[in-house]
Amino acid sequence: MYILLMGPPGAGKGTQAAELVAEFHIPHISTGDMFRAAVKEGTELGKQAKACMDAGQLVPDSITIGIVKERLAKPDCHKGFILDGFPRTIEQANALDCTLTDLGIELDRVININVPVEELVNRMTGRRICKGCGATFHVTFNPSTTGVQCDKCNGELYQRADDTVETVTKRLTVYSDQTKPLIDYYQDQGLYSEIDGRQSIEKVLSDIVTSLRGE
Ligand code: ADP
Ligand code: ADP
Ligand code: ZN
Repeated sequence: MYILLMGPPGAGKGTQAAELVAEFHIPHISTGDMFRAAVKEGTELGKQAKACMDAGQLVPDSITIGIVKERLAKPDCHKGFILDGFPRTIEQANALDCTLTDLGIELDRVININVPVEELVNRMTGRRICKGCGATFHVTFNPSTTGVQCDKCNGELYQRADDTVETVTKRLTVYSDQTKPLIDYYQDQGLYSEIDGRQSIEKVLSDIVTSLRGE
């Protein structure tokens, strides 16, 4: 199953991807996670990405397309993947089409998780991530039992540097200018499904699974 998970920042893509990995046993490929790992390792890629991420801007297409191409060529992607947070520009979508054609892969579905802007700000500013396993929580909507430790691995929870009100606002503008036009792009390809992301995490998941299974 080749799945593309779209939606504005904070819509719940990462949360749903973690559930879909368990359901379909395919890798979760998140460009945001890849950039955060590079920042943590202090690589040249990490240095370039950090400046853009801190400013709430996109990392340049030339860099982003390169790392995704490399990742999709790895053998674990040959039976499926969940692509989360890529493509985010028309240029990235065109590059993805070419890469998939080269690999002989066709997307099965493009899922767009839709959530209104006011709610997205609340979701991102309350988001907490586990340092150990990367699991995502929310201080109000999906709290861990203790509020400071991860329920899955006891790791310490932290707040992403780009989840401040100021940066979140910039990211939402970047989304509507550069990423939203991709909805038309995938609607034209006939692969597009829209999911109401205001619902509970469980209901969003069951709507996605229903859409993927073509029920
Ligand atoms: P994205 O990957 O799209 O940026 P996340 O999966 O990180 O989004 O979710 C953003 C925040 O919203 C997290 O704190 C997460 O726990 C919370 N969240 C995710 N799905 C829901 C939901 N259906 N209802 C309420 N909060 C949610
Ligand atoms: P969210 O879904 O919560 O916005 P991500 O973890 O997907 O967050 O992305 C965090 C940041 O990483 C983005 O604001 C951007 O700077 C960078 N990034 C992630 N994916 C891409 C992409 N496909 N193209 C350009 N930059 C990206
Ligand atoms: Zn954890």
